[in-house]
Amino acid sequence: MGKAVLFIMDGLGDEGERTPLLMAYKPKMDFLAGSGLTGYYSALGSGQAPGSGIAHLLLFGYSEKDYPGRGVFEALGVGLDLKPGQVAFRANLATVDEKGRVVDRRAGRPSDEIAEEVVKEIAKFEYKDFEFSTFHTTEHRLVVVINKGSADITETDPHKVGVKAPVCRPLCKAAGPTAEAVNAYVRFVHERLEELAINRERVKKGLPKINMVLLRGPGKLKRVPSFKRKYGLKAACVAGGALYKGVARYVGMDVLQIPGATGGKNTNLIAKAEGVRDALKKHDFVFLHVKATDSYAHDRDPVGKARMIQRVDQEVLPTLIDLECFLAITGDHSTSSIRGEHSALPSPLLISGPSVGADPGSRFDEVHVAKGRLGTMRRGELIHLLLDLADLAKVVFP
Ligand code: ZN
Ligand code: ZN
Repeated sequence: MGKAVLFIMDGLGDEGERTPLLMAYKPKMDFLAGSGLTGYYSALGSGQAPGSGIAHLLLFGYSEKDYPGRGVFEALGVGLDLKPGQVAFRANLATVDEKGRVVDRRAGRPSDEIAEEVVKEIAKFEYKDFEFSTFHTTEHRLVVVINKGSADITETDPHKVGVKAPVCRPLCKAAGPTAEAVNAYVRFVHERLEELAINRERVKKGLPKINMVLLRGPGKLKRVPSFKRKYGLKAACVAGGALYKGVARYVGMDVLQIPGATGGKNTNLIAKAEGVRDALKKHDFVFLHVKATDSYAHDRDPVGKARMIQRVDQEVLPTLIDLECFLAITGDHSTSSIRGEHSALPSPLLISGPSVGADPGSRFDEVHVAKGRLGTMRRGELIHLLLDLADLAKVVFP
């Protein structure tokens, strides 16, 4: 039996004639493509671009019905112990004007210190028998957890400025009391934050007030089989971004704490590669995630994305090649650095390992992998193939 690594560069594939993968100098990835198998990966297939949360759940071989809502991934990803029945949201500290219109969805991106001080004031709130807990994560980002209720409710984040934050509405009759409690919480937050000395200071300095919380992605834990149960394997996650750690925790992977792994453009790639090496000592399977490729594409910066791919080639690939494991590299979806959005085009895929054979002459980009023998893999097909090649898969109907 071998060991397997699934390495996701978020939003890896791209659009246009000169894609970041075509521009980047990445001899090690090209070497692996030429000495391994190549093709494409598309989570949903059929021309649909997924969000990153569902895309990772599908990668791990789960389905849409297992999707718990983004708030759950965020809560788990920042280390909260979410309990069955609790409702979790991702949330932002934001700024609204006197008429309640959103003027800054991120309240001027306050420092962690300021945001933490503000969140202390709204950390606990009770309405009837609903108890709200508000947790600060980074900058303007929060997680809000209700002790009970329904996740069948609408968001209060308008996702744009210049309009009022919408009230929370129930999507089914049973969700009525939860929506009412959420609206009471939002009123409490606004009134409490408006009177803070910090906000008087911020106005004096010309900074936006921190006087609102915008809630999105309500969700509750669902019962899903763990990765261990599903595949009979010990799995670990090496990632920086909370969402990816959250998906991994949701399916029961061990989430490793890697120093300097931020999920940002400044992430410590060498520490992550070393994290994979350490993890493989005690685990059969490691999920490795790098976020910044997607972030550069959202910023419409194809050159930044190409540079990030080069950094990965120089800082991560030497360790991965050294490990002589079964390795798949792809994106959870493509992200267009021309449009700044997720793209429905498939991402280039390569699988390398001691005995997998080769698609000679292949290189790792949108054009060359078209000749590869893997074709376009969808959903859980990739993880099943990777585990099979590594001799880690269970035989179906033995
Ligand atoms: Zn993604
Ligand atoms: Zn994205």
